[in-house]
Amino acid sequence: MFQKILIANRGEIALRVLRACKELGIQTVVVHSTADADAMHVRLADESVCIGPPPSRDSYLNIHQIVAACEITGADAVHPGYGFLSENAKFADILAAHNITFIGPSGDHIRIMGDKIEAKRTAKRLGIPVVPGSDGAVTDQKEAKRIAAEIGYPVIIKASAGGGGRGMKVALTEADLEIALQTASTEAGAAFGDDAVYIEKYLEKPRHIEVQVFGDGFGRGVHFGERDCSLQRRHQKVWEEAPSPALNAEERARIGDICAKAIADLGYSGAGTIEFLYENGEFYFIEMNTRLQVEHPVTEAITGIDLVHEQIRVASGGGLSVKQEDIKFNGHAIECRINAEDPRTFTPSPGTITHFHTPGGLGIRVDSGVYSGYKIPPYYDSLIGKLIVHGRNRVECMMRLRRALDEFVVDGIKTTLPLFRDLVGNADIANGDYDIHWLEKYLAKGE
Ligand code: ADP
Repeated sequence: MFQKILIANRGEIALRVLRACKELGIQTVVVHSTADADAMHVRLADESVCIGPPPSRDSYLNIHQIVAACEITGADAVHPGYGFLSENAKFADILAAHNITFIGPSGDHIRIMGDKIEAKRTAKRLGIPVVPGSDGAVTDQKEAKRIAAEIGYPVIIKASAGGGGRGMKVALTEADLEIALQTASTEAGAAFGDDAVYIEKYLEKPRHIEVQVFGDGFGRGVHFGERDCSLQRRHQKVWEEAPSPALNAEERARIGDICAKAIADLGYSGAGTIEFLYENGEFYFIEMNTRLQVEHPVTEAITGIDLVHEQIRVASGGGLSVKQEDIKFNGHAIECRINAEDPRTFTPSPGTITHFHTPGGLGIRVDSGVYSGYKIPPYYDSLIGKLIVHGRNRVECMMRLRRALDEFVVDGIKTTLPLFRDLVGNADIANGDYDIHWLEKYLAKGE
């Protein structure tokens, strides 16, 4: 087992990882920018190293500084959290070259899944259902037209190097295709330095369903069930739940087994998430994230298993603490992402939190790095906390969520809490009846 883990992240996820390390009796080092000197994870860590000024590229993305911090403190492993360097294959390779363990998969697996065309090809080879579309990059208009006619309109053009919901264009008819292909390719070249694009069938009313998987480092794979993250705004997840209100037991077992087997065949090690669009009873792979996800706590709530403990065990060569048959699903969990943003316009609202009071009681978990008097720096993501609620079933979970949201107080800044208070009272949400476009339509109506 590791002696000392360096946490290369900030905010709630740095604290989340720190808690797991403390429970396992592992020493902790955190790195931080000058803007985060007062952050909770810095206060609670055994050691901290300031690695640079506020902009992420000079601190949280600065590989040299982070490796130097490992050398200075004698850390033998790095947990990257999510975002920042968590899916940077070069970072994983550099750590390996310094005999420091990256708590995540190999650089090669990160690389495969970071290239969307390669990821889709790999998924297909592993028997994972994919969205019908081109086999690889498409450059030629004629070929594009032929493929689009074959799969049927509407189609979506996506950038191979895309991410964060950027670099996608929809073509409703053949007349749109030429221009969509051109703009997608030019934009991809400008944004990602790679103009390769590919074509997929555009699904009109899908849900976003993702499967939490783990490779144990010895060639075995397991799944921890699915999460439904269909409530999104600009491709950003807002509310996540497990299990999905849309799946039945047969579908859950089918897709879970396919994913676990794929992970084993790939020889993957550590945590991963295989993301699908789901429509009319069919799953369509869109991408795989090779890291811990923001929404992992809903899976922890229904399985009772600490996924960060498992990541650390696997990375240290100790394998998983559970086998597939030990993973049981219990009840229902929902997570609300609380952002320092205006609840209607979503413009960031940094500033000082004058009062912060979190709800409590059975089935309530709040993961947050902030406190009363904390000044939110304007440089980073606006996520200030996550409220995760568990109940024996979805109805109980929603009752408890409504109560917890009423108790939550964040004064001094604007947050997305009012949006969630509206959503828990909405009939479609109560019925679990929503797709990936539901939230944007709801916000456009301004109800
Ligand atoms: P990114 O890596 O940029 O997040 P994804 O491939 O994961 O890109 O897609 C992001 C989102 O775009 C999906 O959650 C979905 O809302 C939409 N999307 C992607 N592919 C399709 C598709 N074939 N049909 C409909 N919507 C899609």
